[in-house]
Amino acid sequence: MDIKKLSSTIRDIPDFPAKGIIFKDITPLLQDTALFNEVIEHISDKFKNFKIDKIAGIESRGFIFGMPLAVKMNVPFVPIRKKGKLPAKTVSISYELEYGSAVIEIHEDAVKNGENILIIDDLLATGGTTNAAIKIVEQLGGNVVASAFVLELAFLNGREKIENKSAEIFSILKVI
Ligand code: AMP
Repeated sequence: MDIKKLSSTIRDIPDFPAKGIIFKDITPLLQDTALFNEVIEHISDKFKNFKIDKIAGIESRGFIFGMPLAVKMNVPFVPIRKKGKLPAKTVSISYELEYGSAVIEIHEDAVKNGENILIIDDLLATGGTTNAAIKIVEQLGGNVVASAFVLELAFLNGREKIENKSAEIFSILKVI
């Protein structure tokens, strides 16, 4: 994996969506099919010896990486979405954001008891979203083996917020 190229392809957008935040924009990576393919290969390689039953992607950029990864690893894909988006029966979890709170949901029949789940999102920031995603999968009896990210804002110490200490946290690129 060409880490330098990946790093220069993900662009910084200052002050988006609010002043003081540097938004990591992955859309240029979506324009580079060879590099995008490398990212998917890299993550699937990392987990090839893990017993993964399903991949759960966090809305919305977790879908962009999660579905091709699921196809590559030949396992089903499960969407974890923001409140009110999933049509069938759901379970939900609320979690704290820097300002206010948010709710994510999953279909209650999407994960079966004892299934090994890999959670994917584009970016690990404060860890709140991933921690909630792990908990919601666990509510359904799923066993979260790992969570994977293209990018980790390591200076925010998101890893520490993840309560399940046995689930591996994997990121291709770390910003320190
Ligand atoms: P957190 O719960 O703080 O770990 O935030 C993770 C979620 O917010 C992910 O779905 C990211 O896509 C998004 N996110 C948080 N901070 C950024 C950022 N600086 N640039 C791009 N996306 C971000």
